[in-house]
Amino acid sequence: MNRFWSSVVHTLTPYVPGEQPKQTDLVKLNTNENPYPPSPQALAVMAKEAAETLRLYPDPNADRLKHAIADYYGIKSQQVFVGNGSDEVLAHAFLGLLKHELPLLFPDISYSFYPVYCGLYDIAYQTIPLTDQFEIDPDDYDIPNGAIIFPNPNAPTGRLLPLSAVELLLKQHSDSVVVVDEAYIDFGGESAISLVDRYPNLLVIQTLSKSRSLAGLRVGFAVGHAELIEALERVKNSFNSYPLDRFAISGAVAAFEDKAYFEETCRRVMSTRDQLANKLTQMGFQVLPSAANFLFARHPDRDAEELAARLRERSIIVRHFKQARIDQFLRITIGTDEQTQRLIDALELIL
Ligand code: PMP
Repeated sequence: MNRFWSSVVHTLTPYVPGEQPKQTDLVKLNTNENPYPPSPQALAVMAKEAAETLRLYPDPNADRLKHAIADYYGIKSQQVFVGNGSDEVLAHAFLGLLKHELPLLFPDISYSFYPVYCGLYDIAYQTIPLTDQFEIDPDDYDIPNGAIIFPNPNAPTGRLLPLSAVELLLKQHSDSVVVVDEAYIDFGGESAISLVDRYPNLLVIQTLSKSRSLAGLRVGFAVGHAELIEALERVKNSFNSYPLDRFAISGAVAAFEDKAYFEETCRRVMSTRDQLANKLTQMGFQVLPSAANFLFARHPDRDAEELAARLRERSIIVRHFKQARIDQFLRITIGTDEQTQRLIDALELIL
């Protein structure tokens, strides 16, 4: 490393994203994308945008999208923040915690970007182990803290914390910001957005990457009390981050408007998930209950890394984490019924 750089750079632990292979004929079940295409209405609107208005700059405030999200959830547009994917929204939320004297709390086994942001921004944090059943127990968070963040459903476990338990955390930590990262909430969970008017310390973050099939568009958003949202806007404007582009704004608005398509594709993913969970259980896997678009499963007699490698030989990619406590699990994204059948056929040959 160049001697002119700060030694801090040496200490950063970069995030390792799931593989995005160039080969296109793979059954790609490793990064929790939606197997179904985006809403046809969203695609049509984006094509129109390309033809008619791409020569013009986008609205730096993406007001149209903020209003669409506010209308969808029955809140005010001042309660909505938008960003280039929820990763960017999360990054801004973490920046809001800079120089806080108390640690940020998050579960041990959670979204692996959290410790990366803490390292990058030098934010103190403390991890709280999941229970034996890989659940978040609100009572374990009874520690002085500056903020709490967790995905709900959790990633990569898929386990859901019921809304009543989220509310308990909000009550117990009324002096802290509680950030609920709801990247996977639309696959069977109940969003905490319904609580934002009652809890000024709540920030809910969602994405259009999963349930709305728009991972490539990069749109995420946060919902919370207007003061929390204003703080995020300040961070964003200080950071001079890129505004959402015209495709992102128009495609995301149309995706929210096409509720029927969204509901149908979510229903299909959930139905395939529940069928796959049954099948894997019959094959001897232990499958954690999932409210997400993936399953987290282990086989008592087969090494997970080896299983992932054998699936890969058959052009199926699933995710394996070399991490204590979960290194015998595979995280399997829910694909189409056809992809799921290919996975089952391959596992029957391998096991
Ligand atoms: N939160 C969680 C828990 C995730 O798993 C992901 C996807 N890797 C994200 C946030 C970020 O998603 P995106 O940036 O595509 O909105």
